[in-house]
Amino acid sequence: MYNGVIQKMQTEYTDPVNYDFLIGDSKVNLNELINSKISLVWSGEVVCVCGKKLKKFYRQHFCYQCYWNAPEASPSIFKPELCTADLGIEERNLAWEKKFQLVPHCVYLANSSGLKVGITRNNNQLTRWMDQGAVQGSLIAVVPNRRISGLVELELKKVLSDRTNWRKMLSGSPQKLDLIQAKNQYIKYIPSELQQFIIPENKVVNIQYPVAVYPVKVNSLNFYKCNIIEGTLLGIKGQYLLFDDNRVFNVRSHQGFIAKLSI
Ligand SMILES: [Zn+2]
Repeated sequence: MYNGVIQKMQTEYTDPVNYDFLIGDSKVNLNELINSKISLVWSGEVVCVCGKKLKKFYRQHFCYQCYWNAPEASPSIFKPELCTADLGIEERNLAWEKKFQLVPHCVYLANSSGLKVGITRNNNQLTRWMDQGAVQGSLIAVVPNRRISGLVELELKKVLSDRTNWRKMLSGSPQKLDLIQAKNQYIKYIPSELQQFIIPENKVVNIQYPVAVYPVKVNSLNFYKCNIIEGTLLGIKGQYLLFDDNRVFNVRSHQGFIAKLSI
């Protein structure tokens, strides 16, 4: 039995993706547990990034104080075009924001539940695609900071989705897309002053997930509704565990929950 705070699953790009469940100080390989029974039991407590223990998060993974004050929850986290560290303007904590924002970022196309656009730190794209359950991914542009990636994405969001339909993503493998053709089709929407950041190479990464059986009709589990989750693990995709009886559990949205894992 493993005890402690749940974190987002650690992924490794192998064929299929290798998943480790992080709980407390333990790391449990999940690929080996597919078709086995596992159980997760929530203690009734959660821990915020600030270390405060609560019965329930205020919003997302934050307590009230952090949601309104911590740089991890500032508006530019959700809307990267609002970043201002490169302009020397503080949002909530300039030192933190400089470290987080002033590194190269990339803009990508991925196929999770269909074509989508997204941004992430440069070289983090594989992790991001695996976390989203994308089966294909390809870079469009590499830019010097997070704000500029947000500006590129903002233009592409006018013509492309930036969301994953998680029910669709979990219900099977989407139809393969020609991401290079999509890149050539959509880069014309990037304004001329940002065209310099488009990368010339056209590389598509394909990703396979360890799924024995996909759910037919997705039924989402959550600790606030039921603190005991047990069943046969039938697969892992994105940050979701797929259980028998069409049940799915989003590990990422349970980050910070104090729980027990039995295998
Ligand atoms: Zn907090």
